[in-house]
Amino acid sequence: MKARYMDHIVDHGNILDDVKKGKPVVWMNPDLKSFEEVEATLPLSGPDVLDADRNWSRLAPLLSQLFPELAHCEGRIESDLVDVSSMLEALGLRADAGAILVKSDHSLPVAGSIKARGGIYEVCMHAWDLALRKGLLSATDDPILLTGEKCRAFFSSHGIAVGSTGNLGLSVGIAARALGFNAIVHMSSDAKKWKIDRLNNIGVDVVQHDADYGAAVDRARNVAELDPQTYFVDDERSELLFLGYSAAALHLKRQILDKGIVVDALHPLFIYLPCGIGGAPGGIAFGAKQVFGEHVHCFFVEPVQAPCALVQLMHGLDEPVSVYDFGLKNTTEADGMAVAQVSMFVARMMRNLVSGVITVQDDDLYRWLYLAKKHQNFQLEPSAASCFAGPICLNKSECGRKYVQDLGLDHGFENVSHVLWTTGGDLVPSESFEGFYMRGKELFQSPGN
Ligand SMILES: *Cc1c(COP(=O)(O)O)cnc(C)c1O
Repeated sequence: MKARYMDHIVDHGNILDDVKKGKPVVWMNPDLKSFEEVEATLPLSGPDVLDADRNWSRLAPLLSQLFPELAHCEGRIESDLVDVSSMLEALGLRADAGAILVKSDHSLPVAGSIKARGGIYEVCMHAWDLALRKGLLSATDDPILLTGEKCRAFFSSHGIAVGSTGNLGLSVGIAARALGFNAIVHMSSDAKKWKIDRLNNIGVDVVQHDADYGAAVDRARNVAELDPQTYFVDDERSELLFLGYSAAALHLKRQILDKGIVVDALHPLFIYLPCGIGGAPGGIAFGAKQVFGEHVHCFFVEPVQAPCALVQLMHGLDEPVSVYDFGLKNTTEADGMAVAQVSMFVARMMRNLVSGVITVQDDDLYRWLYLAKKHQNFQLEPSAASCFAGPICLNKSECGRKYVQDLGLDHGFENVSHVLWTTGGDLVPSESFEGFYMRGKELFQSPGN
């Protein structure tokens, strides 16, 4: 059977109407500028990304000690880059649709999602900073000393709080507890039960809110502000999170070189990043622009009912807007992306750097989740599967084809390398995954998919 996803996408110039109706769209950013032009206007720069990478290296021995699963990879929290071009046909694409590579953050060690890059980085950097300021170690000491008795005792009288739809809570909670902090995770109503159970099991204090992600973050921030011993990981504003994510681009570059993949004007890299609050995709896109400059093109992917980055970028940045303002519901099975209002910090960083935004329906997430398991044995969560929309939507939409034409690519997508960033899935319990898989299989086999 031939897959025919997204064949219904046509560009009739009135994207906002489709957005409001909850239909999938491909939106090209009219404010996209060359990186050279934009770089100097941004609050963060190339050296910040290099610093983050250096910090990760310095933290590596500590991380190996805290998490034995990192011993075989020298304490680096990294994922494989896998060529899945053999899936082109299953995805309903032609052989000349470009190479398809998966950046497998669904199997990132320790936290099983892209949030390991941000959450673990911020928690470790905070612990390091706290210990330095208290004089428990000196600037030249190896941060592995943070596992010493004195530091642990000190951290046990301090808290780390975060608001989350699930995965950031997992990553921050796991790192905070491993270092001996008290951890408080405020969960939105989207949070899956297994994520909450897992946190409870390692002694994290989970507060469940009957409210959306933005409200959970606000409450977490308010509670943390009242307690000077508690540090708040602010998913909506944190530069540390953003930079922790950004370092991924340097590793990606090494992987691309190792695979002998050329990236230049005639062989561009297109990266598709599932987007919630924006920190993870924004940080990685920012890092990728530092590393690949004009030759990388970053697209965010969002659920049709929660396209918060899309509505903000379409609206302009003078005031924050939410998907509710556009009559949308912020309901989706992609819990990692159930965010109604994008981070304004990220929106400002991305305004001129993101090439476009693609929106997806939940049913398609399950179909791709099924295909990724069947063809590659990947275990994805629904949010992570959204990146499969990337090469499909660009190849099949008029605006996508025009985008590559405007790059001067005579052979269309043939020489494009598509990088699909699969953001999470490894920790999903097998019973839940089996349910996702069966649902995807049924949807895939139902007529008219
Ligand atoms: C958090 C998350 C995202 C989106 O990252 P943001 O920083 O919220 O934009 C995407 N996929 C998964 C699986 C996530 O956990």
